Amino acid sequence: EPNKIGLAGSPTKVIKVHPPPKTRNPELYKEKDPKGAAEWLTEKIKISLSQTQEKIEYKKPEPVAKVNGELWVYVDHINEEPNETSWEIMSEARRIADLLSTTLSAVIIGADNLVEDAFEYGADKVYLVKSNVKRYDNDIYTRALSIVAKKYKPEAIFFPGTKSSRELASTSAIEINTGLIADCTSFDVDSKGILYATRPDFGGKEMSTIICPNHRPVMMTVRSGVFKPIHNHKKGEIVEEKLDDEFSRYKILDYRRKEKRNVLTESDIVIGVGRGIKSPENIKIAEELADVLGGVVGVSKPLADMGWYPKDRQVGQTGNTIRPKLYIALGISGAVQHLVGISGARKIIAINIDPEAPIFNNCDYGVIGDLFEVVPELIKRLGK
Ligand code: FAD
Repeated sequence: EPNKIGLAGSPTKVIKVHPPPKTRNPELYKEKDPKGAAEWLTEKIKISLSQTQEKIEYKKPEPVAKVNGELWVYVDHINEEPNETSWEIMSEARRIADLLSTTLSAVIIGADNLVEDAFEYGADKVYLVKSNVKRYDNDIYTRALSIVAKKYKPEAIFFPGTKSSRELASTSAIEINTGLIADCTSFDVDSKGILYATRPDFGGKEMSTIICPNHRPVMMTVRSGVFKPIHNHKKGEIVEEKLDDEFSRYKILDYRRKEKRNVLTESDIVIGVGRGIKSPENIKIAEELADVLGGVVGVSKPLADMGWYPKDRQVGQTGNTIRPKLYIALGISGAVQHLVGISGARKIIAINIDPEAPIFNNCDYGVIGDLFEVVPELIKRLGK
C-alpha cells in the first residue's frame, strides 16, 4: 500500500510505491497487411541502425539544494580492469552531485591506473586507497572503504550493481552503520537535499522510492545498463590513503576468467522471442531474421524455463540486461521483468498480435500483427 510500507528499524524508508514510468513514445503500424508491415519495418530498421551512437553531451543542471558531504562512486574492477557499470553510474552521480551543489568523487581501491579514467568519466576528485590487493577481497575492501567513508563522511555512495560491489556495499553498510538501497534504477533530489532512490519491487511490477533520512552516507547499488557514460574530461584532486592492515580471512588460491563470452550481451542486434512463437521449432524463423540482420536470438523467461533455448540467452530481470542498438521483440508481451532487461536498448521494435500488449507502451516502433505472417515477409525484404 503506497506510503505505508517500511521496514521497522531499518535506516531506509519506502516512501512511495508506484508503477514503472513510460519511457518511450511508440509509433505503431496497425493495418492488416503483412507486406505493408514488412516494408514499413524495413524502413524503421534502416533508420534505427543508421543512427550512430549519439555522444552524450553532459548538460549541467541548475542546483536545487546544497549539501555539505560529497557524492562518491565506488569504481569496481577486477585486477585493475574496470567494470563499465562504474562509468555508467558516474554520469548519474554527476547529475545528482550538480543538483546538490557538491563534489563528485571516485573511490578506487588498489587500481592506480583507473584514476585518469575516473576524471574522464566525470569525477572532480579521486580517493585512491593504495593497496597491493588488486583483486576484490571482501575483508580488505570493506575495511578500506569503511575507513575512508568514516574519515571523509560523504553524503552518499553509489556502487555499481556488479556481484562484488553488491557484496561490498552491504558489508560496508553494516560496518558504517547506515542504510543501503539496493538495485536502484533512477534518482532524484528535493530542495532539502534529500536523495530519492527508485528501484523495481514486487518482482518488478511496481517501483519503490526509498530514502535514508537519518543516516549518512546513503549507500546505493545501481543496476547495470541503465545509465550511459558521459565524457567530461578534466583534471582533479587525488587524495591518497594507505591501508595498513591487509589481513583477510580469505585465501584466493586460483583465479580463472569466465571463458565463455556472452554473445547476447555483446551483440548490437538482438531478436527477442517470446511465447507467441508457439513451439521450439518455430524459433528458426527468428534465427533467420537474426542471420539477415547480423544479430543473435534472445528469449523471454518462459522459453528458457521450458528448455526451448539456452538459459544464457534469457533477457530480463533474472536473465541478461542488454543494450543493443536494436531489439526486435517477436511475440513478447512486455512484462516488466522482461522490460527491465531491454530498457537500455537504443531502439525497440515489437511485433505482437495483441494491440493491448504492454510491449506497445514500451517500444519505439510496433506492428500489430501475426509474427508468422510479418516476419517471413520481412526476411524476404531484408534478404534482398
Ligand atoms: P506471454 O506473456 O505469454 O506473451 C506472449 C505474447 O505473444 C502475447 O503478448 C501474445 O499476444 C503474443 N502472440 C501470440 N501469438 C502471436 C503471434 N502469432 N504473433 C505475434 N504475437 C503473438 N520474464 C522474462 O522475459 N525475463 C526475465 O528475466 C523474467 N524474470 C522474472 C522474474 C520474476 C521474479 C517473475 C515473477 C517473472 C519473471 N519473468 C521474466 C516472467 C514475466 O513476468 C513474464 O511472464 C514473461 O516475460 C512472459 O513471457 P512472454 O512475453 O514470452 O509470454
